[in-house]
Amino acid sequence: MRPKLIDLHTHSTVSDGSDSPTELVRKAAEANLMALALTDHDTIAGLEEAEEAGHHYNIEIIRGCEISASSPYGEVHFLGLWVPKKCNELETFLARLRDIRNIRNNQILEKLATIGRPLSLETVFAESGGESIGRPHIAKAMVRQGYIEHMDDAFRLYIGKDKPAFVPKVDLRPEDAVQMLHNMGATVAFAHPMLLRCPKGWQAELVARLRPYGLDAIEAYHSEHSAVDERYCVDIAARHQLLLTGGSDYHGKSKSRIRLGVGKGGLRVSVAILEKLKAQRREKGLLC
Ligand code: AMP
Ligand code: ZN
Ligand code: FE
Ligand code: FE
Repeated sequence: MRPKLIDLHTHSTVSDGSDSPTELVRKAAEANLMALALTDHDTIAGLEEAEEAGHHYNIEIIRGCEISASSPYGEVHFLGLWVPKKCNELETFLARLRDIRNIRNNQILEKLATIGRPLSLETVFAESGGESIGRPHIAKAMVRQGYIEHMDDAFRLYIGKDKPAFVPKVDLRPEDAVQMLHNMGATVAFAHPMLLRCPKGWQAELVARLRPYGLDAIEAYHSEHSAVDERYCVDIAARHQLLLTGGSDYHGKSKSRIRLGVGKGGLRVSVAILEKLKAQRREKGLLC
């Protein structure tokens, strides 16, 4: 029997992925995934469409989103899984994060102009299919404008951390990000912890700090995690009695080496992971 696999971390055109929510779900069904979480950055605008497609293609959809917070070592990301429907507080919170994005996008464009790479906001909007706009759209606009050949070059030369047109995001404390998602009734996971360039052991310290604010799980399985990274995450989770999550962080063409469900080829996220997350929600009396 083939293993029953899932993917709990994906992006659509509603943020910086290249597949619409429907296309994404269709591809997940094609890849024989049993469940898929759509976790766009700072928006839940794609979830209804994904759920409809989930009915059509007979695949379980988990309503999610991904938000970023600041740390001394750069951004830390959190996934909210089973985010609620029609929740004003969540909508307002995410709208504020998108406003902050828009201010930052303008600041990045100002910096690009001063180094001889002017871009209009319209050309950036033209690269976006949704309401959450960020650096990947700026990178695409730079390719279209002929300033660079590949999106990667934009991050490497201009808008990546410490590059001339880089602008950090406005501070959101990890504690506040986790607490907000937790208060909404979401299951909160620390996304791709091992992508942080921080002193060894700092992720474990952060996990200990965030546990009281409602952190539920650690994304041990991720396209960019090595087997050693996975073991490290599994170990922290065990020490802090946290659950595990896993996903590809699929973005479609925007990160073409990462494939739905399997990441760079070796990723396998078992449905057993999902069952444990659901069991915890049931224990807490939360819907899933
Ligand atoms: P932002 O949220 O606007 O800061 O943009 C961050 C997004 O850019 C994340 O979703 C990353 O996955 C994506 N990203 C980071 N580096 C690259 C890269 N070299 N090529 C394409 N996308 C990238
Ligand atoms: Zn992204
Ligand atoms: Fe992320
Ligand atoms: Fe992501």
